Amino acid sequence: MEKTGCNKLHPQSMCPAFGGLRVLMRIDGAQVCMAADQGCLYGLTFVSHFYAARRSIVSPELMNVQISGGSMIDDVRRTIESIASDPSVRFIPVISTCVAETAGIAEELLPKRIGNAEVLLVRLPAFQIRTHPEAKDVAVSSLIRRFGAFNEPRREKSLVVLGEIFPVDAMMIGGILQKIGVESVITLPGADLDDYVQAGRASACAVLHPFYERTASLFESAGRRIIKGNPIGANATGQWIERIGEALGLDPVRVKEVADEERQKAKEVLAGFSSRLHGSVIVAGYEGNELPLVRLLLEAGLDVPYASTSIAPTSLGEEDHRLLTMLGTEVRYRKFLEEDQEAVLKHRPDLVIGTTSLDSFAKELGIPAIYYTNNISARPIFFASGAASVLGMIAGLIEKREIYSRMKEYFVPAD
Ligand code: SF4
Repeated sequence: MEKTGCNKLHPQSMCPAFGGLRVLMRIDGAQVCMAADQGCLYGLTFVSHFYAARRSIVSPELMNVQISGGSMIDDVRRTIESIASDPSVRFIPVISTCVAETAGIAEELLPKRIGNAEVLLVRLPAFQIRTHPEAKDVAVSSLIRRFGAFNEPRREKSLVVLGEIFPVDAMMIGGILQKIGVESVITLPGADLDDYVQAGRASACAVLHPFYERTASLFESAGRRIIKGNPIGANATGQWIERIGEALGLDPVRVKEVADEERQKAKEVLAGFSSRLHGSVIVAGYEGNELPLVRLLLEAGLDVPYASTSIAPTSLGEEDHRLLTMLGTEVRYRKFLEEDQEAVLKHRPDLVIGTTSLDSFAKELGIPAIYYTNNISARPIFFASGAASVLGMIAGLIEKREIYSRMKEYFVPAD
């Protein structure tokens, strides 16, 4: 099968509301109340059990009769009351989705607090929020806007690190920030509602992923410094540490020492792979954090002719965009599967790091392919150790390229 379709009509990623659910359901003491129709509820319950917090969603029964009959808001209120009757529930996020009536639910008709629980309406309609990464931003910014203690005294040398990351990366970040004199770090999205409160008192916010635009602008408008970028690859690692030191007014000598040390360690990892990393890779995920991986691959000496992501271009991702396009990568935002497929046919890369549908397409052509989400988002990528983990896996796959061609020959005998 070498033809690409051109209708671009089938779903290109999972339901965006899932991203918001992932953030909200993981908060301790939270019980989501969803205002959605049965179809949304079925699908979102399924993905939430598998990929969010293995918890159930509670929802009023919203069939056509309730939605069009005018009883919907009373049904939602009754459901909130019933959830709040459990004293262990401290937070009730009310999520509204695509159905026009639930998307337009009136916030002033919902309680702000009931029993032991805070109630917060988060609107996640797919026609407005196109992807699940962007829905994470909507959820985090709604939490910060409501709970962030921006009016309390600011904590000097304290930092919010914003972006869902692998646990080992969070530990590495904490260790390195401590070395340069950062006194407290809050990692968001987090499991403790109090972290969202305390985030308002931090002095600066390091935004690791480019789609957190709404959240970044909340911090910025409260006078907090925004630090762009992430410690991926040698150059960016040193620069990221220096930017944090500068934003928090830390000891510049100590900051430079640590930045140089970490840059050097990452350089040594990259040099260690130089004999093994040759060839071209296509990166095409839908997580919104693909471009920093491309930067790492380019720095390691690989060719990346094409990269795509589901999110729109953002000002937080501008630096990566400029660098990648300067180095010859064609970058596609709000991509369609068909565009990714065309890129695979055009470039015939040695490896595809893509979505499941693109990976099947590549494998049918005898090209090694792995799923971005399971293989990149689920392993460390920051600093020298993260680079070693990612590049080790990629080198192994490129070296085994031959096996994929043989597999193809086995399953598809020559005519
Ligand atoms: S209708 Fe909207 S909210 Fe419901 S499952 Fe589809 S994309 Fe998600």
